[in-house]
Amino acid sequence: MSAKKYVYDFEEGNAKMKFILGGKGSNLAEMTKLGFPVPPGYTISTEACNIYSKTGKLPEGLEKEAKEHQNKLEKKIKKQLGDTNDPLLLSVRSGAAFSMPGMMDTVLNLGLNDVTIEGLIRQTENDRFAYDAYRRFLMMFSDIVLKVDKNKFERELREMKKKRGVKQDTELTAEDLKVLVNIYKEIVKEETGEEFPKDPEDQLKKAISAVFESWNNSRAKTYRKEYKISDDLGTAVNIQAMVFGNKGNDSATGVAFTRDPGTGENKIFGEYLTNAQGEDVVAGVRTPKTLVELKEEMPGVYNELIEAMKKLEKHYRDMQDVEFTIEQGKLYMLQTRTGKRTAAAALKIAVDMVKEGLITEEIAIKRIDPSQLDQLLHPRIDPKAELDVLATGLPASPGAASGEVVFDADTAEEEGKAGKKVILVRWETTPDDIHGVIAAQGVLTVHGGMTSHAAVVARGMGKPCVAGCEALKLDMEKQLFEVNGTTIKAGDIISIDGSLGRVILGEAPLIPPSVSIDFQTILKWADKYRKLGVRANADTPEDAKKAREFGAEGIGLCRTEHMFFGDERLPLVQQMILSETNEEREKVLEKLLPHQRRDFEGIFEAMSGLPVTIRLLDPPLHEFLPNFTDLRVELTEMKLKGANKDEIMAKERLLHKVRAETETNPMLGLRGCRLGIIYPGIYRMQVKAIMEAASNVKKKGFKPVVEIMIPLVSHLNELVIMRKEVEKTVESVLADCGTNISYKVGTMIELPRAALTADEIAEFADFFSFGTNDLTQTTFGFSRDDAEAKFLAKYLEDKVLPVNPFEVLDQKGVGKLIKIACKLARKTKSDIKLGICGEHGGEPSSIDFCHKNGFTYVSCSPFRVPLARLAAAQAAIDVEGDTTK
Ligand code: PEP
Ligand code: MG
Repeated sequence: MSAKKYVYDFEEGNAKMKFILGGKGSNLAEMTKLGFPVPPGYTISTEACNIYSKTGKLPEGLEKEAKEHQNKLEKKIKKQLGDTNDPLLLSVRSGAAFSMPGMMDTVLNLGLNDVTIEGLIRQTENDRFAYDAYRRFLMMFSDIVLKVDKNKFERELREMKKKRGVKQDTELTAEDLKVLVNIYKEIVKEETGEEFPKDPEDQLKKAISAVFESWNNSRAKTYRKEYKISDDLGTAVNIQAMVFGNKGNDSATGVAFTRDPGTGENKIFGEYLTNAQGEDVVAGVRTPKTLVELKEEMPGVYNELIEAMKKLEKHYRDMQDVEFTIEQGKLYMLQTRTGKRTAAAALKIAVDMVKEGLITEEIAIKRIDPSQLDQLLHPRIDPKAELDVLATGLPASPGAASGEVVFDADTAEEEGKAGKKVILVRWETTPDDIHGVIAAQGVLTVHGGMTSHAAVVARGMGKPCVAGCEALKLDMEKQLFEVNGTTIKAGDIISIDGSLGRVILGEAPLIPPSVSIDFQTILKWADKYRKLGVRANADTPEDAKKAREFGAEGIGLCRTEHMFFGDERLPLVQQMILSETNEEREKVLEKLLPHQRRDFEGIFEAMSGLPVTIRLLDPPLHEFLPNFTDLRVELTEMKLKGANKDEIMAKERLLHKVRAETETNPMLGLRGCRLGIIYPGIYRMQVKAIMEAASNVKKKGFKPVVEIMIPLVSHLNELVIMRKEVEKTVESVLADCGTNISYKVGTMIELPRAALTADEIAEFADFFSFGTNDLTQTTFGFSRDDAEAKFLAKYLEDKVLPVNPFEVLDQKGVGKLIKIACKLARKTKSDIKLGICGEHGGEPSSIDFCHKNGFTYVSCSPFRVPLARLAAAQAAIDVEGDTTK
């Protein structure tokens, strides 16, 4: 059996091998293959890193294999590591499959010691350069491999410059650097109790292990978590012959992008430093110069570099980010990778490259990260601003806003009406707070998760929300909160960043959203390729209009409960709930009807010609009643103040009713179609309002397309009863109105039993819409309201779960139920319409799942519609041969 291969010469690899060689390694190999001036080297695979991470040891056979490649390298370059006459120096650099800039470690100038430096001086006749390389090596190796605090070395360097009265490193003489080298060696001895390792082979082995270890440093882990990069990928190690940008004023080092990564403009953008090594540019030791100056300083090399960059972009067919070094007038390419860019730049580059014939529309669509588009649809905090971040919660609804802190919805509404900008801060929000949410610029809650009411509502409205910010110590009575030593009172200004979950002191500078021409072009292309329909979750005519502007092809979920709030309506709803008799209840419902009808008319008008799925009332009724504890306090106060007896009795009655309505598990209680069965008048009123509205708008020339949806069905019989009731009401309304309107009756599939009996249920449903919020809640048995704040964060941190199932559809579990339901439903009705309206309807990987399972549409909040259009197209396109992905 041949031994396992862990090491590859640059000549052996190519750009497609990034999972084995890492991005840097595979691209160095590709550039070598293409004949670019790349210093020779070899790469140790990511697999070796994974073994190292698991066992703490280099895999068996690796050292021998690496030595063979080292020998080949030495033959190629005709220099040897440790040669006292003409030593080879190496760079040892990390490089994972996905670029993680600056997160892992690198050692340069490896191979120097007190003897080899003499050889280097002899060969180069440049002792200043040699000592500069040595002091850099001592510091990097000590920091990364020996774990000696880097500041100790930097302090000495600063001291030396001060002593010599110079500002720049380049102004230090060979003698100064030699003194520094000796001081550095002393520091190592003091800190580690041992001499700095002299043997170059030993240095190399230690550096390789240190680079592997850097895969698991806290920076790298945090970065991976943020960008959802798997911890199992590992980093490769690239060992390459050093070239030197610090050999004098004909040498330099720099980084450059083939297009502007901020705007996407098609012009080369880069920076460099003369007489320097790579880390000087990144670490900001000196202020770099722009490439324009290189054109004047070294015109020949400049032209060569521009030529190389153009070739690389053409070859990779994407914007490249390159590192280069110029050694005594000769250009070397040290890295190329797909350049990171802002959302606006990503769109511009993709559209321009299609126009230039570099890529196809399909590749352009595939290249845009849908979640990045969020940046463009909401105002966001200027990334250049300096911020005083007070705390971080869940990034529940993207965008950013600033305003005065208010602690209750009424004040938010009052101040909002008076033209003030406010941020509503609550323990959590209940539907009662909706008017405050509408008036506020943004919402901040201490409890609650990504699908909490506050988050869902805020996302629907396109307002920023930070939820579950448990660090806030809220004192509602004193109208303040304390956070990490700062006290914020009502009226103080804060900013929230719903894209990153940040709570910021004061007014943060914002950048407004824009739907650029490039954005529209990409979406137009996306619409050509996608198979899935995209609808919106919208509850008001305004949201419906916005959704249509963003390209929604109908409403997939209109949550009617949101219409039950507001000054005029809530008292009526409360009266309805408190009614002792059916007659009393019916009377109040009659009063509510015109309000509902008006809303539906507005929505049908805004969505004329497109389907509108209206879901009948879903949440438990007690959500509409005042808080039990608040009521009890009020009652006690009334008694103490000797209030009127009738008023006290009325309050007691209310308190009694609130207690009676309170359930231990309201999410599993009297809600959804259960309400429709226990209080049939409510659904009757809603259906009447829907059909009267449809009839009225039809008479005005609009085209209402009505879909009535029954929530929380678990048993076929619930739907059978509800459907009969709905049909009876519809027929009678249509007869009264004298119009004929076709309509559909469907159901949500949001409980496991409904999914498992979907064949039976499908017989009585014209369509299914998967309510994946509740389906996730009931499949996992995780409360939507509490899980994220109580244990889910820890679960995610400890990797008990890979991702938050309320954000990303759990395809293995919840998805399995959905697949079963789809299969069963199609057995009964082969062409049944299938949609999704849980929060997952706006999440790219969940949209891909819906595409693969032949859904008719996805439905998401209006601001996510563009993202869903793009993600649906990406799901439908299978692009081959795009090496940059
Ligand atoms: C769902 O459960 O996924 C759903 C869309 O309904 P709601 O979030 O209103 O419960
Ligand atoms: Mg639901």
